[in-house]
Amino acid sequence: MYYMRGGDMTGQKKEEYWDVYTEDRIRTGRLHRRGDRMKEGDYHLVVHVCIFNSKNQLLIQQRQPFKKGWPNMWDLSVGGSAVAGDSSSRAAEREVMEELGLELDLSHCLPVFTMNFSDGFDDYYIVKKDVDLSVLRLQEEEVQRVRWVGKEEAMEMQRSGIFIPYWFLGKLFEITDTQSFDAHGDRRRMLRVDFASAENLHSWMSLAEIVRDGFPGLETTAALEEKVVSLSDQFFCPGYITVEDRRIHCHKRTGHGAEDFTHGIMNSCNPVFIDVGLRVGPERFYDYFGSLGLLKKTGIDLPGEAATIMHAKENIGLVELATMSFGQSFQITPVQLLTTVSSIINGGNRIIPHFGVSVQKDDGTVVKRFSYGGKNQIVSKETSDTVRYLLEQVVAEGGGKNAKIAGYSIGGKTATSQTLPRSANKYISSFLGFAPVENPQVIVLVIINNPQGIYYGGTIAAPVAREIFENILPYLGIPVDEKAAAESELAE
Ligand SMILES: [Zn+2]
Repeated sequence: MYYMRGGDMTGQKKEEYWDVYTEDRIRTGRLHRRGDRMKEGDYHLVVHVCIFNSKNQLLIQQRQPFKKGWPNMWDLSVGGSAVAGDSSSRAAEREVMEELGLELDLSHCLPVFTMNFSDGFDDYYIVKKDVDLSVLRLQEEEVQRVRWVGKEEAMEMQRSGIFIPYWFLGKLFEITDTQSFDAHGDRRRMLRVDFASAENLHSWMSLAEIVRDGFPGLETTAALEEKVVSLSDQFFCPGYITVEDRRIHCHKRTGHGAEDFTHGIMNSCNPVFIDVGLRVGPERFYDYFGSLGLLKKTGIDLPGEAATIMHAKENIGLVELATMSFGQSFQITPVQLLTTVSSIINGGNRIIPHFGVSVQKDDGTVVKRFSYGGKNQIVSKETSDTVRYLLEQVVAEGGGKNAKIAGYSIGGKTATSQTLPRSANKYISSFLGFAPVENPQVIVLVIINNPQGIYYGGTIAAPVAREIFENILPYLGIPVDEKAAAESELAE
């Protein structure tokens, strides 16, 4: 490997090479020379290690005054780019050794979270260790000095502009306060916290384009709860609906013709969604948005959750309501969408999503089981049952039928949305599904960003969900539904 690390004491810079990754974080095998411009579509890996002591103080470093970026500023314990050949955890170990002269075994650690930035991926590790500062060997080219700092003081340093403005600085202290990390950051001996892969979590908690088109089920739920529509209500779709002075098209320009409410949903018919949305009215719809929990964060036990973006109540006229009715004009995070739909279909109880389930010792003894607050009834059981039934119809015979698998009842809804600017002709396709319908145990959200060729969610996202269901339902030991099995046999 022909790379060298950083500058040396003579002030001469040696060349440093980074591995080039794809957007999906796959190593391309190509190298990038530090200092050169990163090519569009090329990404590299950065790591940060945050060392906390048992008093929950963070080890911070002051950068040298001659550093080009953030000179003299206070920073997290350690951070830097991975060099060619580094794995993420190896890069983290190397940075800790280089900058602080401290040996840590991070080989079995996963980053706690990853921040994506324009040029790459930034993995954050958290280690709890009472480091003796007097034995550290600081890297003279990088670090002036180090010290411990508590949360309040760190936040104060940030406010006064002497600490690099990491927006999640306060959250770091909260994570370490509530979760256990081993003294060496060694995952083998770490008290286990059940986490999903940290790599992509951030994107699930940010306002991705995907949910710009939301989920028409939200509006259906409000309409059912208000009892302004019943499943057999008749509608007519000529291919558009006129709201005030605006003509809003159905995705089927030639129109769906006469259809009842159930079929309107199965057809994903925009005029039906809009008609029903208008029956609820702007004020009530906004209130439902709130009572469904969509105006607040979900309270998930991870840092970095984004809040919903939505029109202010007083700005919602009929046209805004019409576009909201089929899910446009607001943005929620994928986690928020999953949480809300789970809550609607589980009988109507709003839940708080979480990754931490329990803390266990090596031998499996449970030290602590996390609990996540009371359940809040957000819709009636009757509405919950009806929404589940409708979403089952969508998979059985409507736009979601590519998610269908033999022997299981599955409910779901597809969505296809155009991202802004519309002129770019880019789409996001998604499918949200759950199973089994009568007693949902698994919910799946598949998002395909900028699909090439066919972009309809029902065609490309639903089959991905099917594959996940096919694997996960037997794995969880969920028995085959006799009724669903009989029906799929009949269909063949
Ligand atoms: Zn239609």
